[in-house]
Amino acid sequence: MPRVDLFGPVPRKPRRVMMHAVDIGQAPGMMPGWTSAKGGKFVCRRCGHDAGWLFDMTDTEIRRGVPCPVCNEGEG
Ligand SMILES: [Zn+2]
Repeated sequence: MPRVDLFGPVPRKPRRVMMHAVDIGQAPGMMPGWTSAKGGKFVCRRCGHDAGWLFDMTDTEIRRGVPCPVCNEGEG
């Protein structure tokens, strides 16, 4: 029996390793092009990559995390 995918293809949901915020804060000031001074210090739990502080993020983005450039290398 063929496997039926009820939800269809999900092209915009790549399986990625995400870095998680170990600390959350605000940038000391806004930079040109930013929409938010919010950000966090992101570290990958998988490889330990320390991305440092990233800003111009929404609360949702901070909570979700950002893709690890080391673990996701070669995925565009
Ligand atoms: Zn990583």
